[in-house]
Amino acid sequence: MMLEERYKNLGVAFVPCETCGDPTDKTGTKRCDGCWEVEHRLADYVRYGGDVARAHLAKALYDGGEVRELSVHERHRWGACPVCHAQHGQPCSGGKGAPGAHVRRLQFAPLRVREVAVP
Ligand SMILES: [Zn+2]
Ligand SMILES: [Zn+2]
Repeated sequence: MMLEERYKNLGVAFVPCETCGDPTDKTGTKRCDGCWEVEHRLADYVRYGGDVARAHLAKALYDGGEVRELSVHERHRWGACPVCHAQHGQPCSGGKGAPGAHVRRLQFAPLRVREVAVP
């Protein structure tokens, strides 16, 4: 709010940054300097930074999330089954109401997941 007042007093037009909400005088891009930099360099960063860049991004995104074991029930329903094509969250259609899941599906199911709050 103080920054907005200062801009007003200087006679500079400002808009809220569409990403973070901070006032910015970049009325064309509607991005503050920091958000503009990150958003415009992110694609190149991922493209050229390879696994190191992806590791940094994953840390930034998921740091602090709770890690927990998947239950057997969840593992049996993880991802789409490559054998019977059951969808994520759906049990394998093994026929005859057989319990469990196709081995090929279980090979792709993680043992642990990190839970992240989605805003
Ligand atoms: Zn911003
Ligand atoms: Zn299946």
